[in-house]
Amino acid sequence: MSTIVTQKNDGNKSNLKLRLNGGQLTNVFKDKSLGLLKKNQLSDEDYVCNRLRSSLFINCKGDVYPCDTFAKSCGNIYENTVEEIWNDSAELKYIRNLKLGDMSSCKGCKKKGFCLKCPGISQLEEGDVMRKSRLACQHAQTVDKVLRETYVSRSLFLSIYEICVEKRNFPLGLCHP
Ligand code: SF4
Repeated sequence: MSTIVTQKNDGNKSNLKLRLNGGQLTNVFKDKSLGLLKKNQLSDEDYVCNRLRSSLFINCKGDVYPCDTFAKSCGNIYENTVEEIWNDSAELKYIRNLKLGDMSSCKGCKKKGFCLKCPGISQLEEGDVMRKSRLACQHAQTVDKVLRETYVSRSLFLSIYEICVEKRNFPLGLCHP
């Protein structure tokens, strides 16, 4: 399952009304059965997207894209072979080798560990693969908030539980973790 809804590749934004708002996104991340609440372990040395390093997207006209999210073509299989495009396209080489540390607009971001940064979405919605994505920022802020709430409420609960056990002045049923 994915929470990502992007605008269409032709720039049409009508489907963005289906995008989850902050409250809905919070509920999705809080739902443990969906398992979406996790922190990634990425560093500045990691590639922005590993999928771009092993796959291509080709549409019915033969236009080649780094993936289905990108709106800008980097070749056509009726003009060059897939091998030539894969090996020689300057756009592909550039995007394939982008690392998280290269994203200047994300430098110093404390939410990096929760980010779903996607260069395709940045290009599609922000006009440049190097720009920070408002969609990724919204996701990162929501995951951070839900994790903080979960962590703080669990710590608070454990502190109260310890006091309960120590003082023995609460009904045991209330103090069971
Ligand atoms: S896209 Fe937003 S959340 Fe992600 S690293 Fe950049 S600034 Fe941070």
